[in-house]
Amino acid sequence: MGRILFFVLLALGIAVAWSLSRRRNKLDNRERLELELLRRERRRDEERRAAAGEQMVRCAHCGVYVPAGDALRRGEHVYCSPKCRDAGPRER
Ligand SMILES: [Zn+2]
Repeated sequence: MGRILFFVLLALGIAVAWSLSRRRNKLDNRERLELELLRRERRRDEERRAAAGEQMVRCAHCGVYVPAGDALRRGEHVYCSPKCRDAGPRER
């Protein structure tokens, strides 16, 4: 009788441990999926931007070309970075 009880408890313990690890795995999978979706969305965003042929603008300070969406504007000039913007336009 004692032996049967032992096996029943053992089976119960295994079942509980299995379901716990399964639940944790499921959570990990969902997190991984969300991360993957986020990454895919970002990549699609970049591809769409590149495919649309976003206008490139020239930094008024250093002359580097940046996508218009990433450019910083001050007055009539555009800049590639806050550093260039703070430095102001430079005539060549
Ligand atoms: Zn610049």
